[in-house]
Amino acid sequence: MSGAGSYVCGEETALLNSIEGKRAEPRLKPPFPTVKGAFGKPTVVNNVETFANVPVIVKEGAQWFSSIGSEKYPGTKIFSISGDIQKPGCYEMATDVTLADIVLDLAGGCPEGHTIKAVQLGGSSCGYIKGDELNLSVAFDSLRAEGKSLGSGAVLVLNETRNMVDQIQQIIHFFAHESCGKCTPCREGLAQACILIDRIAEGKGCETDLNMLVTLSDVMANDCFCPLGQGALTAFRSAYELFPEDFKERMVK
Ligand code: SF4
Repeated sequence: MSGAGSYVCGEETALLNSIEGKRAEPRLKPPFPTVKGAFGKPTVVNNVETFANVPVIVKEGAQWFSSIGSEKYPGTKIFSISGDIQKPGCYEMATDVTLADIVLDLAGGCPEGHTIKAVQLGGSSCGYIKGDELNLSVAFDSLRAEGKSLGSGAVLVLNETRNMVDQIQQIIHFFAHESCGKCTPCREGLAQACILIDRIAEGKGCETDLNMLVTLSDVMANDCFCPLGQGALTAFRSAYELFPEDFKERMVK
């Protein structure tokens, strides 16, 4: 039996539904999968990266593993670096490195002649960090203290030629396509968000459109059923906060 492999399957109960041959829609929790998971049986759902750590911890011991990386969240993390970067790829690093260690030292920074405008850390449902703020530790607790998240470990680098409106337009359309449609705030909210961001991207938007997107992002963050909808406009909020000039420049003249 195989599912469609949609983005929402990153939510564990949607994945379990898909495995059972049902629509990939998140389930109401509780019961949690460890109590009632695949086919009604207790099920542990973790990502491959987590499971891959188990054999080496069993072989080398917990003390050895705890000596790597940050004190509170020891071990390593795989970062997949893409975008305007010299050496894109997947890099495994200890959890106490900084974003600069990963983006500049390992991946070589932007190609010559360009500078880093922003880095999106954690994937499309996460916010941005400005290019001159890369001295941030990637340890989970340090990022959380800054209101950031490591998410999936995706690191997208954007150079100074990128306009954030175009990035956000892509992200909103992606989530609208991936929404499973189960709950109204996500299904209808993303349809409206597409209309608003398209108008802004075409240079036909106004201040009211931006304010409506902000309101929509608050409603969706609070009222969507699962993390897909809750995080779908997080990148917009972050981009608007850090680079308001990109949005203002597209307003109807
Ligand atoms: S938030 Fe979106 S993806 Fe999640 S259950 Fe609601 S409609 Fe489906």
